[in-house]
Order: sequence, then structure tokens, then C-alpha cells
Amino acid sequence: MTTFAELGLSKSTLAALVDAEYVEPTEIQLNTIPLLLSGVDIMGSAQTGSGKTAAFALPIIECLQEPEKRPRALVMVPTRELALQVEEQFVKFSKYNKLRCVTLYGGTGYEKQSRALKRGVDIIVATPGRLLDMVERRIADVSGVEILVLDEGDRLLDMGFMPQIRKVISQLKKERQTVMFSATIDNRVHRLAAEFLKNPITVKAKSSQIEPTAIDQKLYHVTEFGKDALLVKLIAELEMSSVIVFTKTKRRAGWVRGRLRDANVLAEEIHGDISQSQREKTLSRYRDGRFKVLVATDVAARGLDIPAISHVVNYDLPDSPEDYVHRIGRTGRAGRSGVALSFVNDEQRYLIRDIEKVMGRQLEQEGKPEPRKVVPARRFKNSGRRRVV
Ligand code: ADP
Ligand code: MG
Repeated sequence: MTTFAELGLSKSTLAALVDAEYVEPTEIQLNTIPLLLSGVDIMGSAQTGSGKTAAFALPIIECLQEPEKRPRALVMVPTRELALQVEEQFVKFSKYNKLRCVTLYGGTGYEKQSRALKRGVDIIVATPGRLLDMVERRIADVSGVEILVLDEGDRLLDMGFMPQIRKVISQLKKERQTVMFSATIDNRVHRLAAEFLKNPITVKAKSSQIEPTAIDQKLYHVTEFGKDALLVKLIAELEMSSVIVFTKTKRRAGWVRGRLRDANVLAEEIHGDISQSQREKTLSRYRDGRFKVLVATDVAARGLDIPAISHVVNYDLPDSPEDYVHRIGRTGRAGRSGVALSFVNDEQRYLIRDIEKVMGRQLEQEGKPEPRKVVPARRFKNSGRRRVV
């Protein structure tokens, strides 16, 4: 067995790999990482789920080393969901050298993405259309890119992104390293490689798939008042050993923690009003298993190294499908299965539909209400208003 250490990765990256519970490199990682570290161009192919993301992300992190707050690595991917997944891996593996990564994709506003670019990033992960747009508007500067990755080359072609890709690449400097990954290599993919790669070495891996990190997802229809009781019940019934409960606001985080304590469940909170040093302390106690429920807001959870957990509970659904993906990604790591439960109400059906679109499947729903019936008002004479049940 060859270890990641033998592939020439540095201590900080190796430490991040240990935290992510990556023990052994996959075949494609074994074959490409040393080559990429040596600076050559690569055309890599291996089936889906064989670990291609880490195969390029790890060498990129090695090459960039320290944050410089200017884009030096660019990864083009065909879809928004893939962009988020790739970013997640960059964040995970670069946690000890703190490289900054941004995702640029369409279908959403420019502000958040522009702001992130202004603050300074080292790595851009983008879909070609939005990226070109931002390059042409001079919001994104790709002139300093040293490493370019075309991930899922076959799908980039299938989705007709060639014109955008060509234009973006024309803005890059010629002395750069270029890598392309593709699940399949056909003539079109060959031509793409010939156009943008310099004397590429072709690396193929027949390795079998890694067990996909399966996350069981379930939606619970529940009223606002029913959430606390349901949470306590699920924690006990499902024997949750380590769980993060996400709430919308810090006040609600404090509230939920209080209700859990009332029910004799050990819980702590982390949110924006709690100092960074206190958060770190809380997390280290969490890692030691001193309590099992962490109640958090998105803001607080971002950028924190939260250990592998068995369950994520969305006490409140997040506002966007992206935040949902980020949240549930906290469970089910490195091939282990995880569970994500969300408390929802019928008014969130459009958000639920968007989440299902991003996840690419329908989610199981429990306690979905029957279509509403209006009960005749006279039965509630005393309350003076119509009641809906
Ligand atoms: P691909 O891009 O080839 O389809 P990914 O890079 O998305 O595959 O990896 C698939 C899954 O395998 C991800 O959940 C990833 O975290 C996991 N994974 C990749 N490499 C390893 C490894 N060496 N050890 C454990 N898990 C891994
Ligand atoms: Mg991939």
C-alpha cells in the first residue's frame, strides 16, 4: 500500500487528509498526484466516483502553498452542484494553509461572488458561462492563473461550453499547467486536449468506485410549535451519537439549546455572538465527546473544522439549496453513511423543490399535511375567527 505521504504531499496537507479520514490514495490519485507535482500536463480518465477531485485538488494546494489572495488556480466544471462539491474538497484539504476558494456559477446574483473575489481568492471553481461573464466585466481576473483544470471534459463538451471555455482560456497566460479529467475519452475529448494541453501524459485508472458517501435525507412536516418535541424525540429514537442542529438565527440557537437542556440532552451552541476562541473550545470538547448536540447557525459553522458527525438536523431550512448542500455535507464523510433530517412546513414547498433539483432526486417526506380544510367558523365562536386545521 502506498500512502499519501509517499506521494510527496506536505505535512499540512497530510494532516488535513487525516482529518478527512482519507487513508489510502485511490488509483487515479496514485497515478496523477506525483505527475502533477512535477509540473507536466495531464489528461486523466477514470470512472465517476474514483476520486478525481482530490487527484487535482491536492497537487494544486501543494503548488500554491500560501494564500496570496490572487487567483492562481482555476477549475472549470459543467454544473453548479459540481462547483460546490469541488470547493468543499478544496476547503477541506487546505484547512491548515487557509487558501481561499470561490465558486462562480449562474442562476444567482453577482454580489456575493463579486465580494468574495474582491476580498481576494487563490482558487476559482466556476462554470464557464458565469466565469466568462465575470472575466469580461473585469470582476474576475484570470491573468495570473498558473494551473488550469477542466473537470468532466466530456460533460463540458456535451453541454456546449466550448465557445466560453475557449474565450476564457485565451485570457490565460501560456506558461501554465493544464489538466483535464474526463470519465470517458473519445475523439472530441482528444481534440480538446490537443487544443489546450502541452504534451499531455495520458493517465487512465480502472479502479473501482469508492462507496459514494451516502446521505439519507428526510423531510419532516412539523409546525413551529412541534419542532422542539420532535427534535428531542428523534435524538432519542434514532440514537444520534453526534449531531449538528442548524437554526436560522443565533436567538433560535440559544432557544433550542435551552429546550434540549430542559430535556436533559447535553447541548452547546456556536454562533456569531460567541467569540472565536470560545467556539474553538466548544468544538474541541465536542470532538472529545463531552456533549453530543451542537446547535449552530450557518455563519458560525462556516470555516470551522467540525468533525465527522452522524446526523445533521435542519431545525430551520436554510434559504438556499447551496446552503443545504453545505450543511448536509457535514455528515457522511469518507465513505461512511450519514443522515440529514429537515423540519419543513408546506409553505417551503418551492424551496424543497429547488433542493430536490440540486440533489437530483426526490426526498422522502414524513407527516406531509393533507390539503387544507377550512372548518366552519361557527364551531369556534369564542375565538372570533376562522380556524384552519
Ligand atoms: P470523481 O470526481 O472521480 O467522480 P470524487 O472526487 O467526487 O470522484 O470522489 C468520490 C467520493 O470519494 C467523494 O465522496 C470523496 O470524498 C471520496 N474519496 C475520494 N478519494 C478518497 C480517498 N482516497 N479515501 C477516501 N475517500 C475518498
Ligand atoms: Mg469529479
